[in-house]
Amino acid sequence: MLKLRKPELFRQQAYLDGQWCNADSGATFEVTNPATGEVLGHVPEMGAAETRRAILAAQTAWATWRRKTAKERSAILRKWNDLMLAHTDDLAAIMTAEQGKPLAESKGEIAYAASFIEWFAEEGKRVNGDTLQSPANDKRLLVVKEPIGVCAAITPWNFPAAMITRKAGPALAAGCTMVLKPAESTPFSALALAVLAEEAGVPAGVFSVLTGDARAIGGELTANPIVRKLSFTGSTEVGRLLMAQSAPSIKKLSLELGGNAPFIVFDDADLDEAVAGAIASKYRNAGQTCVCANRLYVQDGVYDAFAAKLVKAVQALKVGAGTEPGVEQGPLIDGAAVEKIESHIADAVAKGGKVLTGGKRHALGHTFFEPTVVANASADMLVAREETFGPLAPLFRFKTDAEVVQMANDTEFGLASYFYSRDIARIWRVAEALEYGMVGINTGLISNEVAPFGGVKQSGLGREGSSYGIDDYVVVKYLCMGGL
Ligand code: ADP
Repeated sequence: MLKLRKPELFRQQAYLDGQWCNADSGATFEVTNPATGEVLGHVPEMGAAETRRAILAAQTAWATWRRKTAKERSAILRKWNDLMLAHTDDLAAIMTAEQGKPLAESKGEIAYAASFIEWFAEEGKRVNGDTLQSPANDKRLLVVKEPIGVCAAITPWNFPAAMITRKAGPALAAGCTMVLKPAESTPFSALALAVLAEEAGVPAGVFSVLTGDARAIGGELTANPIVRKLSFTGSTEVGRLLMAQSAPSIKKLSLELGGNAPFIVFDDADLDEAVAGAIASKYRNAGQTCVCANRLYVQDGVYDAFAAKLVKAVQALKVGAGTEPGVEQGPLIDGAAVEKIESHIADAVAKGGKVLTGGKRHALGHTFFEPTVVANASADMLVAREETFGPLAPLFRFKTDAEVVQMANDTEFGLASYFYSRDIARIWRVAEALEYGMVGINTGLISNEVAPFGGVKQSGLGREGSSYGIDDYVVVKYLCMGGL
């Protein structure tokens, strides 16, 4: 079992209105370790009734939380950040146990997750309004920004800590309260964050964490008119559903949905850099991020050289349990994830794809999968249209800039994109032509707390992180003072 320096961080209860509690029914569900198949623990199977209580508690807590000064809220958030950093080893151990990613990546995620709390603790102090030039002499016009109110958050399993803090950071800093439902497979990271929030002095009801039935909890979070805003990170399919469910009560929405990231290597690229970027972008978290390269487009003249270098680098990746030193790729999250990558590879091979390395389940068993490269990829393959969310790099060949831009944009998604080139004119041309919310130029890693993360098209709405990120949690109020 997990050995932690602070065992209290591993909680098997939900956190509602400042209380650690079970489901009304007493029901629980189990959470397993994907590297071993072992049961890690159990959490409450909550539903609509508990969600209603958490929302009411968030409404009550909002009245006092919003009246604290930004500086007071900032001090509490700052402490939460410090506690997360101080307990990095324990938080990373919990994350690797439930999610599977290598310990080094889990530690990196805790630093990344804490950075959102730190950033928004500072940014919350700068939610300033405006005075406007009045068209009439007897009037003065002002704009103030206010917290939107009770917020709901639904988060995925691929970044069990950072997807939470990226929402809770700006919400709490702006003076909002939040009810969170983490993913079923990674609730322990969320509950550990709640332990530290409580310790940092986040008041009861300001941040509640409910585990359980996604439909029942999601149904209440979207239907309840007290909830003014929903922030969701997950699949486009579920995002669309939550958007529809939020329509009757006209909630403000932030949606971080699926991607289908193109990764383009032009013939003037530094190929070694491009390979390093492709490894980071494609195989990090075993390919299970919404900004992972999904389609690798390589220009004709460098296709074979790039493929050879990439295969060599992929074959050097160490696969194993995330707790083992030096491991670079852990297991996939579950059996369905393995079936998806298998189906993408089988479809590609049936349509002329050639497996250059990997291609099957790993000898380690469970949900381990071989890091894979497939050449001769084409637009009619499943992998061209759908996110694999696994360690599969399909290589598409292209000839001209116009052709690759057209292929890169030929998707309903528009989250991250990447390209490698050293030609400044081409860099500007392509960066402007890509219909994506984010463009990595000569880098495979783009996420950090100071940059706006988000997509266009069916990849979502709103931006997280950065000075833009707090806008999603405030409303603009206009004051018109007449009779002067
Ligand atoms: P993924 O493919 O990454 O698991 P999902 O969109 O299925 O993406 O899940 C992301 C989050 O959405 C998880 O917390 C999951 O429990 C939640 N979720 C899934 N279905 C629903 C639903 N019908 N209503 C509310 N939340 C849901």
